Amino acid sequence: MAERYDCIIIGAGPAGLAAGLYAARDRFKMLLLEKFVPGGQINSTDRIENYPGFERISGYELTEKMQKQTVAFGGAIKTGAEVTALKKLSSSDIEISCDKDKYLARAVILAPGSDYRKLGIPGEDKFRNAGTGVSYCGTCDAPFFKGKSVVAIGGGNTALEETLHLCKFAAKVTLLHRRDEFRATKVLQEEFVAKSKEPNTNLLVKYSTVATAIEGKDRVESVRLKNVKTNNEESYPCDGVFIFVGMIPSTGFLKGFVELTDDGFIKCDFAHLRTNVPGVFVAGDCRVGAAMQLATATGDGANAAMMLKNYFRDSSWWNQPAGGGL
Ligand code: NAP
Repeated sequence: MAERYDCIIIGAGPAGLAAGLYAARDRFKMLLLEKFVPGGQINSTDRIENYPGFERISGYELTEKMQKQTVAFGGAIKTGAEVTALKKLSSSDIEISCDKDKYLARAVILAPGSDYRKLGIPGEDKFRNAGTGVSYCGTCDAPFFKGKSVVAIGGGNTALEETLHLCKFAAKVTLLHRRDEFRATKVLQEEFVAKSKEPNTNLLVKYSTVATAIEGKDRVESVRLKNVKTNNEESYPCDGVFIFVGMIPSTGFLKGFVELTDDGFIKCDFAHLRTNVPGVFVAGDCRVGAAMQLATATGDGANAAMMLKNYFRDSSWWNQPAGGGL
C-alpha cells in the first residue's frame, strides 16, 4: 500500500530543498524525491558569490547546508528516486510513481530544475567549471575573469544580458553568434550594439561564427572558431568561454500531466506558483518565467511551500485569481 504524505516535493535542488525546509517547519508530513543526489545543477559550481549571506561558498557546500537544515527540521529526503509518472486519483490524492515505489500525496511541489543546453563540442566538458574556464552563468562567474579575455556564445536575451555583465569585469569580451541577426529583444539589441560601438569598447561581436572546440592544457587557452559563411577557421586565444545557448527544463516525465510550454517549461501563476492541476505547485528553474538564479529558486521553494496552507485550508483557493486578496 502506497504511503500517504501531505506533500511530496520532486527534485532536491535549491528550490526543492527550500520547499522542504518550509514544509517541514510547518510540520507537514513531507518527502523529497531526488533522482541523483541533493543539490542539483548548482553542485557543479565551485564558487558562488551572489547568494545573500555567503561571501563565497561552493555549490556543493551550500546545498549540503540546505540539506542538513531541511533534515534537522524533520524533512525526509529519498535519493536515487526517479519519478516516472504522476496521476491525480481524486481531489485529495495524487499518485507519484518511481521505478519501484508508489506514493500518495495531498499536494506536490514540482522542482525538477533545468540544465544548461550544451554545445557538445570537444573541451566543453573537460573545462566545465569556472576554475578551468568554461561557465554557463555570467552573473555567477564574471568576477573570476576580471581583466581577462573571454568568449561568450549565443544570440538570445540571456547571451546579450550576460555578455554586457561580463564587459564590466573582463578586459575583452568577444561574443560569437551563429547567425547574423540576434534573437534577443530589440531594446537589448540596441543597447548591445551601442556598447560594441563605443570608443575603446571591450566588446567585440563575431557574427555567423561558431565554436568547434575549446582548447587548452590544464585550463582554457583558446577556442577554435569557424565562420559559417566563409568556412574560414582560426584558433582564438582566450581565458574563458561562457556558453549561453538556452536552457532545457527537466520536465519530460510531466508531459500529459501538467500544462507545459512548447519548450517544456511548466506553466503557472507567478504569484502563487499554482499549475493547472489542483494541488500541484511548481518552484525553480523548471517553471515558465524563472529568473534561473539560486536566490530566486530558493525563493520559489519557500513561496510554494507557504501556499500549501492556503490549499489545505480551503481547496477552492486553487481557483481564486492570482493577486485576489488571499
Ligand atoms: P534562447 O532565447 O533560446 O536563445 C538561445 C540562443 O543560443 C539563440 O541565439 C540560439 O541561436 C543560440 N544557440 C542555440 N543552440 C546553439 C548552438 N548549438 N550553437 C550556437 N548557438 C546556439 O535562450 P535564452 O537566451 O537562454 O532565453 C531563454 C528564455 O528566457 C527566452 O524565452 C528568453 O526570452 C527568456 N529570457 C528573458 C530575459 C529577459 O526578458 N530579461 C532574460 C533572459 C532570458 P539562434 O538564434 O540562431 O537560434
